[in-house]
Parts: sequence; structure tokens; C-alpha cells
Amino acid sequence: MLSTGQAAGLSNGVKVISFDILSIFPEMFSSPLHFSLLKKAQEKGIINISLHDIRNWADDKHKMTDDAPYGGGCGMVMKLEPVEKALSAIRKKNREDSTVILMTPQGEVFNQKIAAEISEKKRVIIICGRYEGIDERIREHLVDREISIGDYILTGGELAAMVLIDAVSRLLPGFLGNPESKIGESFSRNILEYPQYTRPANYKGWKVPDVLLSGNHAKIELWRKTESFRRTYKKRPDLLKKLKLSAEDKKILDKIKKGQI
Ligand code: SAM
Repeated sequence: MLSTGQAAGLSNGVKVISFDILSIFPEMFSSPLHFSLLKKAQEKGIINISLHDIRNWADDKHKMTDDAPYGGGCGMVMKLEPVEKALSAIRKKNREDSTVILMTPQGEVFNQKIAAEISEKKRVIIICGRYEGIDERIREHLVDREISIGDYILTGGELAAMVLIDAVSRLLPGFLGNPESKIGESFSRNILEYPQYTRPANYKGWKVPDVLLSGNHAKIELWRKTESFRRTYKKRPDLLKKLKLSAEDKKILDKIKKGQI
């Protein structure tokens, strides 16, 4: 078992919390880009990831990338010049068009549609913020798009960037072993994916629905569609408003709403 912290409870009077992470790739937490499909995609050349240390473009001898905010206040602010110089150097080296994305809790909230839009780009430069904030001129003059991964505050943009890279990369042709996996996925059509099961068919009396064992593909398709609607109606009714429904779909949804199926 990998462990990064101490036992849950109190340490020196300070509340501490321990997380137990269950994963088939626990080492991923030290290097999320070097495991599983993201690693393969890099080996196959589907994605290239270059890491740049903003400090390399800091001029002073201490390689400072932050400074105190004008006007006072708590926390430090990410400096403008190292970020601007880093961007210029990256652009000089790679002449193709690039989109500059700033990870920020103030950006548009990331979703599958935005992931699809970004997957159309050739080169995406992601700025990961740190500190209490970033110099506003970065936002004003250097950034094409601001993206948030949700309404909460992270300590830095790196985790958010990894979320974005993961979601965008898996939309690229050749990333997934079976490209059809993407088709019925939750959010690809504003509807949640149907429930999935695998062997055994019965575990401690917890049974797989009979229809999935029937071999009747038409019935299985209808069951999956119905269950997709049921889950979306229960868990994310907001998505249904964005959905274009056929007459048959409307009937199914109506019956679910009335509790008839
Ligand atoms: N004080 C800032 C504010 O209220 O907007 C938050 C700064 S946060 C501590 C530091 C950096 O983490 C941000 O510049 C941004 O790059 C990143 N970050 C934090 N929350 C994020 C989110 N929900 N989505 C994307 N990036 C986030």
C-alpha cells in the first residue's frame, strides 16, 4: 500500500485527514500522464506533451515567479513577464497556430462540448496558475480561453490541466482501442450512459438483468435506451432539456415519468 500521510485524526492539535485511494494504477498519482491510455497515446504519437518550467523565464537570481499584489492584500500574484517570455519562446519554436488556455476557477466550466472543441486544435498551450492569483494582464493580453473544472478552488492549475488533457485526448482518433466506446458515453448526447455489467451473472444474489443475458439484441438496445433515459431523468434532469427527442423517445420518457416502466 502506498501512503503519503499520517493516520486520520489529530496531529499537534490540527485536524488531519487521510485518503485511501483504490486504483489499479496507484503510482499514477505521482505521474498521471505516464500510465494507461495517456501513456500509450504519447507512445503512438497521438499526443505530445511538453512540460515547461515557468521559472526558466524568470530573470532574477532567485527565479521568482510571484510578487506582492499592487494595492496590498493577502497572498502573492503570479508575475507577468516569465509567463509572457515562456509563451513567446514556445511560439517561436513551434510556428503552427496555437490556442492559449488559462486554467482558472473564473473560466467557463469545462464539459464534453468544450473538450470536443479543444480536440479540434493542433496546439494547445495551457497556463497553470498558482498563488493567490495571476497578474490580470496575462488574462487580458495572452490568453484565448479561460477554463474552470468546477466551482471550487484548487491550489494550482496543474490538476485542472490534467483533467482537461485527459478528457480532450480520449476524443482523438486512435486514442481508444475501440472508437465506438465514445458513442454512447454520458454527455456525448446530453444523456447518461446505461448501466453496465460483466461476469459473474449472479454474485451473492446480486443479479444482472435477465434481458442482458437473453441474446436478443433489439430488446437489449431498447432496455439500454430506457435505462439511459431513466438515469438521466433521475440524476441529471437538466440534460434532458437539451436533448432532441424522437416520438419514440418521448413515449419512453413519458412512461418513466409516470412510473409506468
Ligand atoms: N484567488 C483565485 C480566485 O479566487 O479566482 C484562485 C487562485 S487558485 C488558489 C490558484 C490557481 O489554481 C488558479 O490560478 C488556477 O490556475 C488554478 N485553479 C484553482 N481552481 C481551479 C478550477 N476550479 N479550475 C481551474 N483551475 C483552477
